[in-house]
Amino acid sequence: MLAKRVYEIEESAMVKLTSLIDEMRRKGIKVISFAIGEPDFPTPKHIVDAAIEALNSGFTHYTPSMGIYELREAIAEKCNTQNKIPCKVKEVLVTPTKLAVYLAVMACINEGDEVIIPDPSWVTYEACVKLAGGKPVFVPTYEENNYALTQESLQSAITSRTKMIIINTPSNPTGAVYTMSELKVIADIAKDYNLLVLSDEIYEELVYEGKNYSIASLDNMFERTLTVNGFSKTYAMTGWRLGWVVGPEPLIEAMNKIQQHTLTCSCSFAQKAGIVALKGDRKPVEDMVREFKERREIICKGLNEIPGFNCKKPAGTFYVFPSYTFNQNSLEFSEFLLREARVAVTPGSAFGKCGEKHIRISYATSRENIKEGLERISKAVSKIS
Ligand code: PMP
Repeated sequence: MLAKRVYEIEESAMVKLTSLIDEMRRKGIKVISFAIGEPDFPTPKHIVDAAIEALNSGFTHYTPSMGIYELREAIAEKCNTQNKIPCKVKEVLVTPTKLAVYLAVMACINEGDEVIIPDPSWVTYEACVKLAGGKPVFVPTYEENNYALTQESLQSAITSRTKMIIINTPSNPTGAVYTMSELKVIADIAKDYNLLVLSDEIYEELVYEGKNYSIASLDNMFERTLTVNGFSKTYAMTGWRLGWVVGPEPLIEAMNKIQQHTLTCSCSFAQKAGIVALKGDRKPVEDMVREFKERREIICKGLNEIPGFNCKKPAGTFYVFPSYTFNQNSLEFSEFLLREARVAVTPGSAFGKCGEKHIRISYATSRENIKEGLERISKAVSKIS
């Protein structure tokens, strides 16, 4: 009864895990979750207030499908100044970030087109490419290379059907942040082989060493790059479903055409709040980033003290991606930790073959939870080491 495309994609491992955790919690079991993909902070009050004000003033109807002009202007301004992306207001589409990825792929990928995706990476890229009828081509990346796509790995993956390279910096799940020279390598290949780049920069503000650079800011890259970003992680606004994509006008127009027939437009009052998020007080963001940085220290130190774990300190996001030496694959090991330690983590294999023998741990949870979770893990693995 169902369309073939539905069978091509898998239910999200994270969503499955969340329902298992819910079930355990309903039974009264105290689970510590390191599987969280969102900041554990409230949306800053001034942003919430802006949405309330918009609601009370009756701003509750459709907006233009591209988004309200003032928000698009604020996004263009932010991209120009902070990211050095030379986009104009007409090259900004307001849309939830996950949908931005989907629209980008739907607008650019034909049946059989190949899309290069780093392994490991966020599973939605693969799903979107398959839904569009494209072929995901996974390129292995390794910790010793900062999980970056390299010239050799890209060149060996490119064929006459390659249409797009997807990158995610800072990266979910590895936390790696591409350096400028790593981005230049990808940019040169994209130009040499006439490829599009989809750059997902949703974690851009959660960087603790150095800075995140946008590949669209490099010479002659804007014309072939779609940069997706959003409010979810920076402003703790995951439930608001608000983000954006910037890129060359013909691609943005094509994506908007699909948006008009699916989403219509992003939520009106969330858009009003988005303007305030971009233009308003930065202190709540700075406080959150500072707290994440402290927690990163605690989690890395704690994990490295447990025999069997090796945890490098990633430059960004709120994830660490340690490898381990225990004799179980990452799905078995994650199930073991949930059963034995009542600690939920995400198996590395959920992000691709190269994620095997790793787990993803999110530290978007309190310091107390982090400490208790580490103790529980330490106790549980002492039984299998
Ligand atoms: N990109 C990456 C790498 C993500 O991890 C996520 C959220 N997990 C998104 C995009 C989607 O963000 P949103 O929920 O704002 O659509």
